[in-house]
Amino acid sequence: MSQPPLSQARFWSEGSQGRFFPVALGEGLGLSPSGEITPLDSGVAAKDLPLLILPAPDESGTCAVALVSEICDQPISRNGVSLSAGIHLLASKDRMNLGEKTFWVSAFASPEETVYDPAVHGEDVFCFRTKARLTRRDAIVICPCKMIYKASAWATGVACHNCHFDPSQPAWEPPAPRERNLLDAFIDFARNR
Ligand SMILES: [Zn+2]
Repeated sequence: MSQPPLSQARFWSEGSQGRFFPVALGEGLGLSPSGEITPLDSGVAAKDLPLLILPAPDESGTCAVALVSEICDQPISRNGVSLSAGIHLLASKDRMNLGEKTFWVSAFASPEETVYDPAVHGEDVFCFRTKARLTRRDAIVICPCKMIYKASAWATGVACHNCHFDPSQPAWEPPAPRERNLLDAFIDFARNR
């Protein structure tokens, strides 16, 4: 049994009225010059796509990588900075632009619900919150930081003492159109001073 990665990547595409909606990243996504999104597991020729987004969770804050092709005739940028052809690491809350289209990448963590098995989780394991010794087949929750909780202790909804992951907090979403317009206006103002 494998443990979940520390964080998984979520890709956001623009829908109507500037609202963003999440697109499953799966094995990776390819973006056409016009910004159409194609899952890479659909047999599409990845080499013909100017921008590929691949999941790459790690513990340093990277959640995905962008592969920028040399064939692209559209400007590609991350957080407003133009990207050259090659591999670029993406962190959570990075904004990508391909031509006129905007996309976001965010990281999210999901705790794993399972049952305690000494062969998998180790002998002599104690609930991180209650300090109670776990017995085989106890329902447990493994925090994204790998700390192990009894399911009943996790269900109290208190944030993890170790990493402060709070299961009751909603996951990050891209800023709403109005906030973004204000931010853009502020940046323009700052640049033109
Ligand atoms: Zn934790």
